Amino acid sequence: MKLHILGCGDAFGSGGRNQSGYLIEASDRLFLLDCGPTTLLAMKRAGFDPRRLDVIFLSHLHGDHFGGIPFFFIEYLYQKSRDQPLHIAGPAGTEEKVCELFRLMYGHGSAAHEVPPTRFHILHPESFTIIKEIKVFPFRVPHQVQEISLALKVSYDGKELLFSGDSAWTDRFLDQARAVDLFLCECSFYDAGTGNHVNYLKLRENLPRLQCRKLVLTHLGEEMLARKKDISEMLAEDGMVFEI
Ligand SMILES: [Zn+2]
Ligand SMILES: [Zn+2]
Repeated sequence: MKLHILGCGDAFGSGGRNQSGYLIEASDRLFLLDCGPTTLLAMKRAGFDPRRLDVIFLSHLHGDHFGGIPFFFIEYLYQKSRDQPLHIAGPAGTEEKVCELFRLMYGHGSAAHEVPPTRFHILHPESFTIIKEIKVFPFRVPHQVQEISLALKVSYDGKELLFSGDSAWTDRFLDQARAVDLFLCECSFYDAGTGNHVNYLKLRENLPRLQCRKLVLTHLGEEMLARKKDISEMLAEDGMVFEI
């Protein structure tokens, strides 16, 4: 299984990086973790046919994480139609927000026939879901107050990956990252903190307790990029590919 970093930037495109999009390529599955506005173009640049996409898993409904879905919809409506439905799984409200966004951007989405064949799934915190044989365990993380933000633990082909989504540090990452093949953890800041994103100094305190096989930091803001030389952990770059 391979992880393709399509976008490891934050909401502001810091450092000219694409917004959140992580493509998992398995033997017979292709799926995304998050779908920021730059995801379709990054997927094409990486040489993938968007029709091959089986599932989009969404960690939360901030624009830099789901705002790219309308571009996939118009791709399927006007460029290359799909035979099989696209599955989209995210926190409660995903279907409504995706369709509302599509309506605002292209005037479609009020009726089922106006969107390409799509199956929406709600990811309930603490509850395993299997979609196209991909197993996902979502759990709630501290990022939004009213809305639900999820971290996603994904298993397929005997491999396991934990994706933090956007979140402040939480000790749940210690439990859930234990023995996973790769932990893709957001790290927006170095030592500044807004209380809803990980900062590197906090992460570093916890590194001795973190027992994942590989750690990759992502969703990198300007402060992190400016302190690259002070960081020994692996930092994601757009276009990187990791064998899981
Ligand atoms: Zn974000
Ligand atoms: Zn967010």
